[in-house]
Amino acid sequence: MGIPENIEEIREKITNAAKACGRSVQEITLVGVTKTVDTASIIEAVNCGIATVGENKAQELCEKYDTLAGLCKIHFIGHLQTNKVKYVIDKVDMIESVDSLRLAQEIDVRAGAINRSMDILAEVNIGKERSKHGVLEEDLEDFLKNMSKLSNVKIRGLMTVLPVESSFTEHGRSFFERMYQLFIDIRSKKKDNINMDFLSMGMTNDYETAIEYGANIVRIGTGIFGRRNY
Ligand SMILES: *Cc1c(COP(=O)(O)O)cnc(C)c1O
Repeated sequence: MGIPENIEEIREKITNAAKACGRSVQEITLVGVTKTVDTASIIEAVNCGIATVGENKAQELCEKYDTLAGLCKIHFIGHLQTNKVKYVIDKVDMIESVDSLRLAQEIDVRAGAINRSMDILAEVNIGKERSKHGVLEEDLEDFLKNMSKLSNVKIRGLMTVLPVESSFTEHGRSFFERMYQLFIDIRSKKKDNINMDFLSMGMTNDYETAIEYGANIVRIGTGIFGRRNY
């Protein structure tokens, strides 16, 4: 199947998953994950209505930026080294993967220098994996509180990547459920500059389940573009 058919099928599944839990499909953003994907394929996806793409490497994003600029929104979704912030700060609409205060502080400084504020999500390591980035849930509220003091960083919600092996399992469900609980708990506290507008979770293997648990950003790569060639 080609990119248009893949997108159509995913949209249908998102619609059905949203309906099944009484949610509106309009509130769910499909981010096309374009890491390793060539620009011709990205343009094809954008022409099929993909309005936001996700990239996970600063250098790759910079290489593709001339093609993508103005075509679609760009979310940064990978681990961002502090020294790379300066390369992406003027190119992305959101950094979904903020996983340390040091990174948030650098985003604050670099955003301020170009007179903008940056929308960010806090990445949560919900599976407590040593190999993964993201803050642990027990540290999340302190992390958000510290970030909320940064004037050029706008906290918009939470993001997570589940442990690979937990897709399709009850474990995966419990992680999604836990994320949703954190999301609504924090939202209900209504703290200054801690907005819980977006819950970004769910990838090719588990986005329908994520929607069941309140995801309103799903990040899909393989399902749209096929297997990645690294
Ligand atoms: C690669 C990636 C995705 C997409 O994964 P697929 O399984 O290909 O849909 C989503 N989120 C992040 C952070 C990624 O790095």
